Amino acid sequence: MSSRIEEFQPLRDHEVRMYACGPTVYDYGHIGNFRTFVAVDLLYRFLRQNGYSVRYVMNITDVDDKIIRNAARDGVSVQQFTAKYETAFIEDSAMINIEPPKLVRATENIPQMAEFVSRLVEKGLAYRAEDGSYYFRIAKFPQYGKLSKKDFQGMQDGARVDVDEYEKDSARDFALWKAPKPGEASWESSIGPGRPGWHLECSVMSMQELGESFDLHAGGEDLIFPHHENEIAQSESMTGKPFANFWFHARFLLVEGEKMSKSLGNFFTLRDLVLKGHKPSSIRYLLTSVPYRNQLNFTFDGLKQAAVSVERLRNFRLRLTAGNFTDGSNPAMQTLAAESITRMRAALDDDLNTAQAQAAIFDMVRHANAAFDSGGIKKDDVAPLLSALTKFDEIFAVLDDDDATKMKRVFDWASTEGRDKDISDGLRDAAQSGQLSDADIEKKIAEMKSARAARDFKTSDLLRADLAAAGILVEITKDGIRWRRK
Ligand code: AMP
Ligand code: ZN
Repeated sequence: MSSRIEEFQPLRDHEVRMYACGPTVYDYGHIGNFRTFVAVDLLYRFLRQNGYSVRYVMNITDVDDKIIRNAARDGVSVQQFTAKYETAFIEDSAMINIEPPKLVRATENIPQMAEFVSRLVEKGLAYRAEDGSYYFRIAKFPQYGKLSKKDFQGMQDGARVDVDEYEKDSARDFALWKAPKPGEASWESSIGPGRPGWHLECSVMSMQELGESFDLHAGGEDLIFPHHENEIAQSESMTGKPFANFWFHARFLLVEGEKMSKSLGNFFTLRDLVLKGHKPSSIRYLLTSVPYRNQLNFTFDGLKQAAVSVERLRNFRLRLTAGNFTDGSNPAMQTLAAESITRMRAALDDDLNTAQAQAAIFDMVRHANAAFDSGGIKKDDVAPLLSALTKFDEIFAVLDDDDATKMKRVFDWASTEGRDKDISDGLRDAAQSGQLSDADIEKKIAEMKSARAARDFKTSDLLRADLAAAGILVEITKDGIRWRRK
């Protein structure tokens, strides 16, 4: 809000309450969306690493203009329309190691939203139009524009706009609640039938989950105006208290230097990239490689570079865990590990400078690899070096090699969606290696057997679910356990 970098202080000791605007679930998420969600994930992980207990809430926008329109077009209910994309969002987030926030949904909070509108009306901050829609009267909130730093002097009192997204110079009374339109979904409520506006959804759900004033509100830079400006207006004029104490906005991602758009053919969902054979870990790494406040230019060269970087880190860890070392310690390595941790922390403390943090870990890997080759790493140096890697990975989350399993899932999804022609050879190969070998399966079956012998059915069921997820059908008969591939 101050447009300056401020020291972060939570409103309550040791606790951070943060809210991020989540996806509008009318399609698969694109890499721009995930640029923002990964940036917020890093912030969340870093706050947690700093010892805060973090309450992190994200909304699923499952009521909005586009959703209502598309659901009506397809002749299905809003819930039927959004369910598929909400599931896809959760799966995609897991695929690139985004820690799950607490998810809240607009459709589950409609009565509270109607209630909020009627309280705004009572306070004279909102009014009902002839068609039954409700609008926020921005003339009643003189600080309107304080986040986007826009001067709305001379705005016309009473000029209205009823779409969720609109032009940047348009300071108009915005819709809190929209009256039903023929053929489109609506809800009955205490203020009449209709549906909530997008801005209202976030005000109501964030304050409900986190309190009237909370620490941090996040989203992509396009949300500054009008979305977040409107959230502030509704919330602060209602409570008379500051809404969010800090704002966190990720700069937009470009693709090969251009704005991503379907017409330019440079529009990619996360799944599109995996279909082309790219690993989820490379994508995550690339998305984290530019600090959130800087423009990230996504290129396929960059993606290949990212894959090499992740590989180098994984190989280094393997070298440390699998190597044989002579007894003792090398003070230079001990210092290197400690200094690398300090450098990483300092970088992230500086407004989450992820590029500097990555540079710090690569310097460490370079020096340690050189020492390795000349026998300069001793037994007692392994733990501190590994611990620096762990600190890094608590934030960046790319070291565990589970890409093949994840790619197998995208492969299966593409097959069920009839998108076989989009599956690249790269994905086909990766999916193959993501499959469990017979020996792996037999091992899990043996574990199931011993769990069942110990009457530990919970473990047995978990193992069975694991196998099912990998496409292995398990049959339990009185003669024993049988399995086959789907
Ligand atoms: P939406 O699903 O459109 O509501 O957007 C979800 C999130 O993605 C919001 O925080 C947007 O600001 C963000 N977003 C959309 N496009 C981009 C982009 N090209 N780069 C970064 N973030 C984006
Ligand atoms: Zn929002």
